[in-house]
Amino acid sequence: ANYSALLAENRKLHNEVQELKGNIRVYCRIRPFLRGQKEKQSVVEYIGENGELIIVNPSKQGKEGRRSFKFNKVYNPAATQADVYSDIQPLIQSVLDGYNVCIFAYGQTGSGKTYTMTGPDKATEENWGVNYRALNDIFRISQTRVNTFTYEITVQMMEIYNEQVRDLLSSDGSPRKLGIVSAPQPNGLAVPEASMHTVNKTSDVLNLMDIGLRNRARGSTAMNERSSRSHSVVTIHVRGMDIKSGSSMRSSLHLVDLAGSERVDRSEVTGDRLKEAQHINKSLSALGDVIYSLAQKNAHVPYRNSKLTQVLQTSLGGQAKTLMFVQLNPEVGSHSETTSTLKFAERASGVELGAARSSK
Ligand code: ADP
Repeated sequence: ANYSALLAENRKLHNEVQELKGNIRVYCRIRPFLRGQKEKQSVVEYIGENGELIIVNPSKQGKEGRRSFKFNKVYNPAATQADVYSDIQPLIQSVLDGYNVCIFAYGQTGSGKTYTMTGPDKATEENWGVNYRALNDIFRISQTRVNTFTYEITVQMMEIYNEQVRDLLSSDGSPRKLGIVSAPQPNGLAVPEASMHTVNKTSDVLNLMDIGLRNRARGSTAMNERSSRSHSVVTIHVRGMDIKSGSSMRSSLHLVDLAGSERVDRSEVTGDRLKEAQHINKSLSALGDVIYSLAQKNAHVPYRNSKLTQVLQTSLGGQAKTLMFVQLNPEVGSHSETTSTLKFAERASGVELGAARSSK
C-alpha cells in the first residue's frame, strides 16, 4: 500500500507537536499474536522509524479506514523486554540522581500491560519486565557509587480498587483502607500508612513482589478478573546521602500497571461490575486530564479528582519525568478499543492536533 501520501500529509503537523510535552514521553508497544491464535490479520498496518503508526479498520476501504498516529516511539511486536528496558534505562538512572519518575502502562485487558511492567507468569530473567529490571539496575548503579554516596532503597506496593487504596505488603495481607496525604510531603510519601520495606538485593525484591501478587489475589475468587479492574502501584523510594558533605536527597519511582481501559457496556452490567467500571473510568480520565494539563503547562493541574492521581502526584509534574506505555492488542476484533486507546494517549500527551487532520 502507499502510505507516503498519508504520512507526508501528517508529518509536518506531527513534527510540530511531537517535542516532549511537560516531560511526558509516550511509547507505544504492540503485543505479538499469541501462539495458537488463528486470526493473524493485524490492525497495525505500518510502523515507522520515528514513532509513526498506521491503524487500519478492516471494514473500511482505502484512506477512509486508515488513521495515523505519532508517538515518541513505537515498538515492533518483536521487540524484547531488554529492547524496551534499554530505552527507559536513562529514566531509571535519573531516579538515583534525584528525579521523581512515573512509568505506567495503559491499554485494554490483554494488551500486554502486565507483560511490560512485570513480565509473563513465571518469568525468567530474560523476560523480566520493567519492575524487576529497574530495581536490579538501581542496585547496580548504587553499587558503582559506594565511595561517594550511600543509598537506602525502600519499596511500597499498593492496589487501588474502587477508589480505595490497599497495602499489598501489609504484615497480615488483609485489606486496609489507607489515607493519602496531600503531596508533596518533605519525605516524598503520598501514602505514609502503606508499609515500607527496605531492599538490598534483587532477591529481596522478588520475595516482596511474590507477596504482593499473592495478596492481590486474596479476597477475590478470580485473580485475573480482579487484577484487570484495579491499578497496581509499586513505589520505590530512594534516599541518597553524599558521604563527603552529608547532604541528602530523596526521589521516588512509581511503576504502575493500570486497570484495563476497555469500555464496559452500561446496558449489560449492573451492581458491582457497574460500580467498578465507573471507578475505572473516573480514575483513568482523571489521569488523562492530569497529563494533559501538564503537557499544556496549565497553571492548575487537577490531581485531586482521583485516588490514582493523588498517589502519583509527587511523580507527575514539576521536574518529574513521566512515561506512558500505550499497549495495543493487534487483533482486528480490537480495532475500536485500539483506536480509543490511541486517542487517549494522543489527547493526554497533547499531540491530538495531528490526528485530527488525518481522520478527516
Ligand atoms: P494485560 O496486563 O494488558 O491484561 P497481559 O500482560 O496479561 O495483558 O498480556 C496478555 C497475554 O499476552 C499474556 O499471556 C502475555 O504473556 C502475552 N503477552 C503480552 N505482551 C507480550 C509480548 N510482548 N510478548 C509475548 N507475549 C506477550
